[in-house]
Amino acid sequence: MSVQVFGLPVSRGVAIGRAVLVASSRVDVAHYFVDAAQVGEEIRRLRRARDRVSQELEALKDEVLGDAPAEIVALLDVHLMLLHDEVLAAATRQWIEERHYNAEWAVAAQLDALSRQFDEMEDDYLRERKADVEQVAERLLQALAQADRDCCPPVMRHTIASHGDGGDPLVLVANDISPADMMQFKGSVFRGFVTEVGGRTSHTAIVARSLDIPAVVGAREASRLVQQDDWVIIDGDAGIVIVDPSPMILEEYRFRQRQGQLERDRLTRLRHRPAITLDGQRIELLANIELPDDTAAALEAGAEGVGLFRSEFLFMNRQGVLPDEEEQFQAYRRAVQSMRGLPVTIRTVDIGADKPLDRMTLHELRREHTLNPALGLRAIRWSLADPGMFDSQLRAILRAAAFGPIRLLVPMITHPGEIRATREALARVQSGLSAEGVVHGPVQLGAMIEVPAAALTLPMLLQHLDFVSIGTNDLIQYTLAIDRADEAVAHLYDPWHPAVLHLIADTISLARKAGKDVSICGEMAGDPAFTEVLLAFGLRTFSMHPTQLPAVKQKVLRADLACLDGLAEAVLSAEAPSYRLVETFLRRSVVQAA
Ligand code: PEP
Ligand code: MG
Repeated sequence: MSVQVFGLPVSRGVAIGRAVLVASSRVDVAHYFVDAAQVGEEIRRLRRARDRVSQELEALKDEVLGDAPAEIVALLDVHLMLLHDEVLAAATRQWIEERHYNAEWAVAAQLDALSRQFDEMEDDYLRERKADVEQVAERLLQALAQADRDCCPPVMRHTIASHGDGGDPLVLVANDISPADMMQFKGSVFRGFVTEVGGRTSHTAIVARSLDIPAVVGAREASRLVQQDDWVIIDGDAGIVIVDPSPMILEEYRFRQRQGQLERDRLTRLRHRPAITLDGQRIELLANIELPDDTAAALEAGAEGVGLFRSEFLFMNRQGVLPDEEEQFQAYRRAVQSMRGLPVTIRTVDIGADKPLDRMTLHELRREHTLNPALGLRAIRWSLADPGMFDSQLRAILRAAAFGPIRLLVPMITHPGEIRATREALARVQSGLSAEGVVHGPVQLGAMIEVPAAALTLPMLLQHLDFVSIGTNDLIQYTLAIDRADEAVAHLYDPWHPAVLHLIADTISLARKAGKDVSICGEMAGDPAFTEVLLAFGLRTFSMHPTQLPAVKQKVLRADLACLDGLAEAVLSAEAPSYRLVETFLRRSVVQAA
């Protein structure tokens, strides 16, 4: 019987596929497909690992025999028995034979299936045997990794399911995926994602959206209700996951999938049309990127520049070794050069909150931090606390600026003092580069307006800045005191809240009055439900994921600024503004104009 799991819609569209369940602790296990011709060798790899573990366990037994308590010997016997038991050995082999999973993935998948069976057992003693299976699986995974280190050239064993064998489509279901891990799914075979935790603007969700694959987060019951290999439908528009759908539901969703694809194809044709409103106002649509290679998608979508390069993604997943100046320079230069003269806005590193340096999931973060990391040493605070790191990032950016126009954007500014400190660091680094004779270029300096304090004291900040960019994701979080990554309060995370809209409208208006460029690079810029309101507030530059650009452009092309006259006041004076209010307003103004 089909079951529905409700979560939060993150990335539009419908995905249909077989579920691949990945326990959060196992995301770092290699997941890839082996070619049909390699299946035999993969099974031999698994067998060699099993033999190795078997020898290890026998050796351990010999070592402790006579000295250790009888329970230890009995435990080692249990592990040996499990190792050779058909439910582990044969079933793991089957994942390789039938689904062409690599050996590590097969072990993790079978461990997951067995864990569920153990969890459902009535008998306490038997239920506790789950830990033994986990230990044996862990030994197998270690043996596989060791065998690779011992005998194989360094092959790409860590990529996540990067190519398939043309079998059933697959969707990924995980308790949680860190932003860093989500990045690895770029180019993977997964057609959709479901996670149990996270909010709509958590960084994992943002990266999922940039992949343009249907995704649902905060689907709390997903891992319990979805089983390995189940057929599931992910409805990324409604935030629903349907497990084991009936043929009728499946047919309905296949239809929707086709419709969605047709709509996307239609929108892609707008790619080369300039974004100009009906009354001739030119609107700048820029792209948000995470890595230099994302510039290809930005250009493909018709972006006129990069409005936000989240440089922190260069710093993640590196086991504590941060990229040095040279590595960063190469990355920034690549981004700038591939944008062919269009401006690139590089944001200095924004590490902290739900974006830790290593691949920690929200669960792990919540366990580790009793204090609130969103209010901690994050973004510019982190940079100013580590001048060596900050200087090398600034040097790399200034050097890349010799190859094309760069705007430097500083995250989480709350006080003019932080801008002054950044300017001082810039001056220090600039004179250092000049003294060394190192080629570098000029940069404009801008601040993210994403903390209410910055929005409320904007005139003070503007004196020190060339431009500002509104980070609505954090502005909502900090204004409403709602953790953007916490699914438990996701229903209260409201971009339509009057306080949020007032801060945005005031920031745009004050920046324009001061003659400074202002853009929005938070998720609201890429949500077509806000396009008219933001235009009415006076916004002329929007920055978003390349995948969101065509839908926003369509809205711009259909907008007439004269018809938006009065919309800002209507929205700002409403107690509970919503998209419905905007629609009603637009309908009325069209009728009046006719
Ligand atoms: C924002 O806060 O709106 C923003 C664009 O930055 P990030 O999502 O990376 O915090
Ligand atoms: Mg932010």
